[in-house]
Parts: sequence; C-alpha cells; structure tokens
Amino acid sequence: MAHFKALLAAKTEAGQSLSWQELGDEDLMEGDVTVAVSHTTINYKDGLALTGKAPVIRRWPMVPGIDFAGTVIGSTHAEFKAGEGVVLNGWGVGETHYGGYAGRARVKGDWLIKRPAALSAGEAMAIGTAGYTAMLAVLALERNGLAPSKGPIIVTGAAGGVGSVAIILLARLGYRVIASTGRTREADYLTALGAAEIIERAQLQGPARPLGKERWAGGIDAVGSHTLANVLSMTQYGGTVAACGLAQGMDLAASVAPFILRGVTLAGIDSVMAPKPLRQEAWRRLAQDLDKDKLSALTTLRPLAQVTQLAPEILAGNIRGRVVLEVG
Ligand code: NDP
Repeated sequence: MAHFKALLAAKTEAGQSLSWQELGDEDLMEGDVTVAVSHTTINYKDGLALTGKAPVIRRWPMVPGIDFAGTVIGSTHAEFKAGEGVVLNGWGVGETHYGGYAGRARVKGDWLIKRPAALSAGEAMAIGTAGYTAMLAVLALERNGLAPSKGPIIVTGAAGGVGSVAIILLARLGYRVIASTGRTREADYLTALGAAEIIERAQLQGPARPLGKERWAGGIDAVGSHTLANVLSMTQYGGTVAACGLAQGMDLAASVAPFILRGVTLAGIDSVMAPKPLRQEAWRRLAQDLDKDKLSALTTLRPLAQVTQLAPEILAGNIRGRVVLEVG
C-alpha cells in the first residue's frame, strides 16, 4: 500500500489547524480515478481556505488545494487509463473532497480534463485555476462579440494570477491591454507580459459614478466591489465586462446606467462548476493561445511544503503572477 504526504486541515475550537500527515490510498475519498499528483498551486481561494479567512472548507478534516496536475495511476472510468496526464480544477475539490495538497488524489473521472499534449504538468499548474478562469473570461468576451478592433480591454488585479494570465492571453490575441494595479513598481513586469498601458488601481477603488467617460471596450475584473462598478461605468457602448473575482470585496454598488444606456453586458465567470465542454474548450485554447515564454516569466516554483507560508501572502496581494508547488 503506497503512502504519501498530505496537508490536513482539521476543525478546532479556535477555528482550524493544519498539519502534514502520512496518508495511504485507503484514506482517500470516493472516486473512480486515482492520480499521482506532481504539481499543484496556490490560488486566492486556497489562501482563504488555508487561513480560514472565509468558509471555503465545508467538510472536516480536509486536504485543501483546489487544483492539481498529475498522472493517472488507477482508473475504472472509461475515459482515463493509467499513465495519462490529467488536470483538475474546482468541483469542490479542496472544499468538500480531498484536494491537491497531497501526493495522491482520488476523484470522479468526470471532473478531470486530459492535460493538453502541448502543456507539461508544471505549465498546467502555472496556469492553474487562476489562468483557466482568465481563459473562461476571454471566452465570455468573445461570445459577446469583443474583438481587438472594438477597443482596449482593462484587466484589474493585473499583477495577480488571473490578471497576469489574462494579460498574456489578450495581448497574444491582439488586444490593447490596460492593466490596473496597486503595484505600479511592477510596471516593467506588466509591460513585459503585454500590457500597453498601466493605471493605478486607486483610480477605480472609490464609489463609482453611474456613467463615466468611455475608456475601454471591455474588461476582465478580478477585484469586484467599487472597482467593478467603475469598470462598468467606463465601458464603451455595447461592451462586455467579465467578472470573476472579489479581491476588493464581494459587494457591487453599481448603477444600471451602463446596462440600460450603453447596452453593456456583465458576464459572470464561475470556474468551479463550469460544464465539462466549456472546460475542455478553455484548456484547448490555453494550449493554443498562451505564450509559454511569458507564462514562465510570471511563474515561481516552490516546494509544496511552503504552501502554508504562502497563504497569507496571496491574501495580502504580495504574490506576483503564479506560484507552482512541486509535490513529492
Ligand atoms: P491573486 O491574489 O493572485 O490576485 C488578486 C489581485 O487583486 C492582487 O494581486 C492585486 O493585484 C489585486 N488586489 C488585491 N487586493 C486588492 C484590493 N483590496 N483592492 C483592489 N485590488 C486588490 O488572486 P487570483 O488571481 O488567484 O484570484 C483573483 C480573484 O479571482 C480572487 O478574488 C479569486 O477569488 C477570484 N477567482 C475566481 C474564480 C471563479 O471561478 N470565479 C476562479 C479563480 C479566482 P494588483 O497588485 O495588481 O493590484
């Protein structure tokens, strides 16, 4: 029986505790595919789960980690066989089902995506749930008719994971990208990813006017709250904004004016329960459209053992781009 290390979150009177434990296959939860996890990552939501700042974990004890990449080592699912590379994002993994911060994971095969041949397991986790969500947002903009000829796109939370991947995707597709960041010291980093213009996030953080000057054709917003309201108020006629995050807050004090006077569309992005065909399309497009040199420029490698130290850092907005955690 194989044994492997796993991070276990347990409920305590004071809140929750985290400890590294030795688990065996018999400890894993139900599923028809067992995966040897080679890479995982830290997303904002993992930061919330590990610090207990939001009730992400809803079953105890739990192995956190909302995504992973690895190799199938056992399967009774028709679609997967041993030796295949797979990627998992969401579906409650790391929340209600043991997740990626472990040497092995057992999940439903229906939750897995075959890792595109063009991406290594490390690259798949450099993308991670943040990058896959950025692609879902790009797909939503495209579905609503956005194209580079329509005008620039604003990306908020630009130096974070969703933001950084969104910039390289949009730049590669030919869009003029306006990056909104609180870290203007990262201007060179954002320009190297493909941002054509950088704005200070303070411009968007206060209460929004119903309508502002039309500044962009659309946006990918990882920040929510007043920032999203401001982005909407400055979106040009017929534009679309994809909302995926809440780094500033979950509230949205906005006016209906952009919708009813400018025909603006607000597209909601959910990565967790997104249907499989949409996920497959997102991963196909990531393999096709992502500039891998730029992906590597936004990626830092760390051993999984450091994940608990990284959790408060990602919530504080101190992590640039993406962190890949090597397992084992
Ligand atoms: P990161 O922490 O990597 O990026 C978030 C960025 O937001 C920061 O880097 C910072 O960018 C900016 N930011 C942080 N705090 C504030 C603040 N108080 N006000 C304004 N901007 C702030 O996180 P991720 O990229 O992993 O995730 C981004 C958001 O998207 C999170 O809210 C996350 O929960 C959400 N998300 C949602 C998904 C979905 O399915 N809908 C899936 C994945 C993520 P800068 O320094 O450049 O200003």
